[in-house]
Amino acid sequence: MSPPRRRAAARRSPVSVVTGAAGFLGSHLTDLLLARGHRVIGLDNFITGRIENIAHLAGHRQFKFVEQDVTEFLFLEEPVDYIWHFASPASPVDYLEYPIQTLKVGSLGTHKALGLARHKGARFLLASTSEVYGDPQVHPQTEDYWGHVNPIGPRGCYDEAKRFAEALTMAYHREHGVATRIVRIFNTYGPRMRLQDGRVVPAFISQALRNKPLTVFGDGTQTRSFCYVADLVEGIYRLMLSAEPLPVNIGNPTELTMLQFAEEIIRLTGARSRVVYRPLPQDDPKQRRPDITRARTLLKWKPRVALADGLARTIEYFRNQP
Ligand code: UDP
Repeated sequence: MSPPRRRAAARRSPVSVVTGAAGFLGSHLTDLLLARGHRVIGLDNFITGRIENIAHLAGHRQFKFVEQDVTEFLFLEEPVDYIWHFASPASPVDYLEYPIQTLKVGSLGTHKALGLARHKGARFLLASTSEVYGDPQVHPQTEDYWGHVNPIGPRGCYDEAKRFAEALTMAYHREHGVATRIVRIFNTYGPRMRLQDGRVVPAFISQALRNKPLTVFGDGTQTRSFCYVADLVEGIYRLMLSAEPLPVNIGNPTELTMLQFAEEIIRLTGARSRVVYRPLPQDDPKQRRPDITRARTLLKWKPRVALADGLARTIEYFRNQP
């Protein structure tokens, strides 16, 4: 940035662009940025995002919304300081329904968002995923693990799109000197998840709230580690402000089997539900837990919200959904 531009930037609020701003994570990130004094320009095409997630921001003076597919050319007149690239279908059910859009937003959408970052001299953060590790053979997963991914399986559209997005981000960093950050997001939950998005948290909670059986896939011994959304966006914010261009895992290392998780949801909701078993989807990772040593040391970050507390807030949200 030239000295006059830097002085101008110092006088005004930082400007952030959030792609996927109407999504689960994008909308929580937008709230956090507004609370920290950013002006936010949110983009979404509503494939899986929902207007309800940002309805509370209508009329907010520091928030502007643009309905746009981020695979199309991004034109913004104003200066931009930070770009947070969160647009993508992200639940297995969603990316199976939209495999081509998932591949396009991870590839073409990331290209457009990086191009905007380069043009504006903005810092860029890619929302990547633990899915880059595939069905991992290293446990817990550290950032230096290269992964075990089936490129042509049903999850390949998401996993490979995000792997390509990481490669493109590093190329823009190395070739064009763009200041880039990559967060690998592990399973996250909280208010504003779609009840029907197929992920295990909304699936089990909605089943339990109706006293229906909880559908455990496979034998329920596969594991996941769930991070509350407020913890996640705090970690991501710190990563953007850090100087770290290499990927950083953000997630909660408390690991549960899906059977234990079903029992926890039944306990917390007080449901009379039982568990039923359904076939395990193809390539469903058998175990997943983040090693967060890098986040702890580089960002001084660790999750603070206990699973029972985060789930209680999430259950409350789903109880109040029509
Ligand atoms: N799962 C389940 N019952 C459901 C939905 C999901 O047992 O109704 C399992 C799924 O097989 C996986 C885990 O829960 O092992 C997490 O699935 P999710 O779709 O939330 O995300 P993933 O971590 O697989 O991307």
